[in-house]
Amino acid sequence: MLLVRGAVKAYDWGLVDGLARWSESTGEPQAELWFGVHPGGPSPLLDGNWRPTGEHLGDRFDVEAIPLLVKLLAAAKPLSVQVHPRRHVAADQYALQREDEPVIYTDPFEKTEMLIALEDFEAFAGWRAVDQSIAFLEAIEGTLLAVRSLRTGTLADAIRVLLELGTPERIASLPEAARVASLPDEQVAAYATVADLYPDDAGALLTPLLDYLRLAPGEAVYVPAGVPHSYIRGTGLEVMSSSDNVVRLGLTSKPVHVDHAIAALVPDLRPQVLRTSHGDLIWPIDSPFVVRVLRAGEEKILSGSYRIVLLIEGAASVESVNAETSLREGTAAVMDARDPDALVRADGLVAIIQSTER
Ligand SMILES: [Zn+2]
Repeated sequence: MLLVRGAVKAYDWGLVDGLARWSESTGEPQAELWFGVHPGGPSPLLDGNWRPTGEHLGDRFDVEAIPLLVKLLAAAKPLSVQVHPRRHVAADQYALQREDEPVIYTDPFEKTEMLIALEDFEAFAGWRAVDQSIAFLEAIEGTLLAVRSLRTGTLADAIRVLLELGTPERIASLPEAARVASLPDEQVAAYATVADLYPDDAGALLTPLLDYLRLAPGEAVYVPAGVPHSYIRGTGLEVMSSSDNVVRLGLTSKPVHVDHAIAALVPDLRPQVLRTSHGDLIWPIDSPFVVRVLRAGEEKILSGSYRIVLLIEGAASVESVNAETSLREGTAAVMDARDPDALVRADGLVAIIQSTER
């Protein structure tokens, strides 16, 4: 059993000091805290007094032993419209990537993820019902070609057309069009945010294609690789297969790769919204992980799979036959498959995450 803290990522969509209670104040946007071995943000190891040892989790465990990446995430504004590649796409594209070209794929792995809301959380995820997307786009002037693509062509056609049509005037009309299409006020507000923050980002015009969802604390959305999404706002816990492969379509200052994104999309795949609450086992169909966010009480976690116990609020301890550790907020106990059974005691809010792949 090892003790770690998160590696901070200061992306511009983060909330100023949004993760400070789990790390430290920087006076800057804080977007993500990473708990894992991914080279993009390996987690520092701590000693029994929660002081950094100078080593990282990856110094002590093989990458294969740590199949999951866990993040705390604080979004002040919408993240890019993105898609993550499935396993075969990631492996093929990573192998094809040349050293003298810009990096699109950071690793050869699939990125399948789940977001569990820690406070009210808004997201675009998956495709909106086609009729609704058409009604929305019909309320925006000059989008007839895109409507036609949705009626008779493919989603890929519609994406390409909308990126061509994404002028500032059309983007500015998103909230009014949402209202005309009779979408609820919270969605009109979300589109106002998009238009306000990304007034000349052509990818903003893709958001009418995406389904909107709002999660209460404890609820989750599972986003398999191949499903488009853009997290809009909120603080959450994110669990994913250990990969950082993100292909973007818009709402970003980072490069957009339309062909790669379209190749990574799986049009028939849907996100799974799990209307769970704290204490429930969150186990999406076909997911490589299970999660339980425990308020108080005990939970035994068995040997044989990768496990990570992250303290979000209050106090917790993890005990096994050969180790015992108490957690501070923002620290996590990490156990690989060979570590023995362990008992988690929680008094506050603790996330227990286990790999389902052996
Ligand atoms: Zn994502």
